[in-house]
Amino acid sequence: MSDLILVVNAGSSSIKFKLYRVAGADPALVLGGGMSGIGTAPALTVKDGSGALVENRRFAPDEVPDASAAQHHVADWLIHHVGDQRVAAVGHRVVHGGPVYAEPVRVDDTVLRRLESFIPLAPLHQLGNLDPIRVLRQRRPDLPQVACFDTAFHRGHPELADRFALPRALHDEGVRRYGFHGLSYESVAGRLREIAPETAAGRVVIAHLGSGASLCALQDGRSQDSTMSFTALDGLPMGTRCGALDPGVVLHLIEHKGMTPAEVGHMLYHESGLLGLSGLSNDVRTLLASDRPEAAMAIDFFCRRVAQAAAALAVTLGGLDAIVFTAGIGENAPEIRRRTVAALGWAGLSLDHAANAASAARIDGPGSRAQVWVVPTDEELMIARHTMRLLGRAAPDATA
Ligand code: ADP
Repeated sequence: MSDLILVVNAGSSSIKFKLYRVAGADPALVLGGGMSGIGTAPALTVKDGSGALVENRRFAPDEVPDASAAQHHVADWLIHHVGDQRVAAVGHRVVHGGPVYAEPVRVDDTVLRRLESFIPLAPLHQLGNLDPIRVLRQRRPDLPQVACFDTAFHRGHPELADRFALPRALHDEGVRRYGFHGLSYESVAGRLREIAPETAAGRVVIAHLGSGASLCALQDGRSQDSTMSFTALDGLPMGTRCGALDPGVVLHLIEHKGMTPAEVGHMLYHESGLLGLSGLSNDVRTLLASDRPEAAMAIDFFCRRVAQAAAALAVTLGGLDAIVFTAGIGENAPEIRRRTVAALGWAGLSLDHAANAASAARIDGPGSRAQVWVVPTDEELMIARHTMRLLGRAAPDATA
């Protein structure tokens, strides 16, 4: 019996999956896992719905040299342990839906071709996202596949938010601000609506701070603006990505330092951000534990930029009722939240330090002029819900 939905999050250097049972109104997690360390120290790890380890297999580097090999190992594991006939549909995280897709879409050949045309818009991610869709369509053409986009949540932006101050023709060609992390924002906004509906109806900034990082301004749960724009490089500094940068620097690197566009791209995506600033690590845990001044500077830089961006988005919203922290750093790093909110102290924001240290759901201090929340994101559950809905298997309010 087909009673499972597989959610695939395939990147250029990792593949993660989650398997959900669709018996009730909302998908229930059965298994989750993925392959890490591709090409270096590959390991396939799988846990069950309660978090218990069910697989922890190591591979030699040449057994899993690239993302495509990793996909095959994961697929083989799933077929062997689950059986592919039990999977009713596959939902994929796809980073770019271009200017076209404001909703998830069921993939056919026309859709796939259109999604391939967006590869230049997100070279780091889009290719890896589409690979398993293509392979699965060849192996199981009957299996419904749904693409869920990181950009779709932002497609209702007012035009002002999606413009660059560039010649108009470029906008019409697709050179415009798209915004990313939309599945995460949708997940967090939905959760906030459940736990604090009045807050969710107001002016909210969500800070998705993970190895990729961006902020989103929401009014009544709908995205109005975001710090990422044409690519997932813009806005905040990230683990290894530079964030907002004077475009003159790119011209300088090419014209005067003789770097090729590919070399500049590699630097901006892989050698910059917290790693570039500190020269030590892209991981906030490592930087917080270090006593090196470069580590402290990288953290200070990051927190200042998050606070500056939150203030800028408050202008878009005409005020700020709540700021919500989410993703790896946002959910787990009280020190980053403390410094970010401290940098917004001039605007009247403050923390309850005990609640912050405990990563409680609501962490603002008495008298704070905006609420401060910590809300875990669950992009995969969002994808499972969308996939169910597109198959007509969920109650309509399951995505709320
Ligand atoms: P992604 O899904 O984009 O890979 P995550 O949202 O999982 O990213 O975030 C990963 C980042 O979260 C890590 O690089 C690390 O910097 C940070 N992180 C995770 N746990 C902690 C923690 N306990 N304290 C500080 N930072 C953390």
